[in-house]
Amino acid sequence: MNGYSTLLPVKLRDDARFNTVCIHAGQEPDPTTGAIVTPIYQTSTYVQDALGVHKGFEYGRTQNPTRSALEGNLAAIEHGKAAFAFASGMAATGAVMTLLQSGDHVVVTDNTYGGTYRLFERVLRKYQLDFSYVDTSDVEAIRAAITPKTKLLFLETPTNPVLRLTDLAAACEVAHARGVPVVVDNTFASPYVQRPIDFGADLVIHSTTKFLNGHSDSIGGVVVAVNDAHIEWLRFIQNAEGAILGPMDAWLVLRGTKTLPIRMERHNANAMILAETLAAHPKVARVHYPGLTTHPHHALARKQMRGFGGLISFELGSLERARTFLNSLQLMALAESLGGVETLISHPASMTHASVPPERRLQIGITEDMVRVSVGIEDIDDLKDDLAQALDRV
Ligand SMILES: *Cc1c(COP(=O)(O)O)cnc(C)c1O
Repeated sequence: MNGYSTLLPVKLRDDARFNTVCIHAGQEPDPTTGAIVTPIYQTSTYVQDALGVHKGFEYGRTQNPTRSALEGNLAAIEHGKAAFAFASGMAATGAVMTLLQSGDHVVVTDNTYGGTYRLFERVLRKYQLDFSYVDTSDVEAIRAAITPKTKLLFLETPTNPVLRLTDLAAACEVAHARGVPVVVDNTFASPYVQRPIDFGADLVIHSTTKFLNGHSDSIGGVVVAVNDAHIEWLRFIQNAEGAILGPMDAWLVLRGTKTLPIRMERHNANAMILAETLAAHPKVARVHYPGLTTHPHHALARKQMRGFGGLISFELGSLERARTFLNSLQLMALAESLGGVETLISHPASMTHASVPPERRLQIGITEDMVRVSVGIEDIDDLKDDLAQALDRV
């Protein structure tokens, strides 16, 4: 499906290819000056020509040209019909959940992002929404979890941090057979690696904070939709709740998506080499990376993904060994988040997943000795040197 040219007045051919779409979709030279880069329209309101006569822009929460450019760009990149940019990935997820009503039930990937789990369990349960967490890598488990009250299937693939995959085409088929729409949090893969709408998904969520922006300098989120009813509601809720992405951040993400394909090529290539290096190292107990033939979903990864992404997790045998390793790194930065040009490394049990109860952490495979790497686009030999010297100390 390709509706690029209908999104905005952009003279991009319908058959434009991915790199071209990333650079051009949603943007046209600034009509007043010809500036090739969409300006940051840092304004709260717009002067009207006369009573009831305006240029389509009335108030900055409702419309902003920089945000619109980004939304057109991201809709095209994800093969959707429209996109809505929010103040964070969590605000984007929160907006999608307003499609539901009290009493509705949602089937969720069991090791979904920790913040998503917190939103569902600590906030949305207060509004009588019900959630079942299942291993969505097993299509039969999805089928079994759907009830007449199920109104959404919420998928994340690959998952954080153990990188399990869900077969998107199979999951969408099962959900759609029961009239259940499918939303995919595609943050971990990025639309270079996989485009869920091509496999049947109805909605795609991103934390633009990660690969889409790619430079670790902005927090944001987006929802991409294809169905008119979803689009109408999301446009309404973006304005009604007002958790919009600001113009400066929209501009940063728009700059980021121009280089998404070349950044992802390098993320993919560097991560593959590091995963193989780690798997061959005697001090590493176990490596999780969909690109390794030992990964349980490797065949699915080959079918559904373009490259295997920039995230790796691995186990070092004990918390003490993981601590020594993390404290010995010189180049890789100890930090939460992912998807930036610089390599970030973290300890899921005490950092990103600290809010998840310990017994649940173990259920979803997050052990105390696990380390997660968001592989950046530095020179691979420098990354390998840093890993080697830190592993030497373990
Ligand atoms: C970071 C992240 C989020 C939340 O995004 P924010 O921009 O931090 O609000 C949601 N899902 C996944 C998979 C993430 O990695």
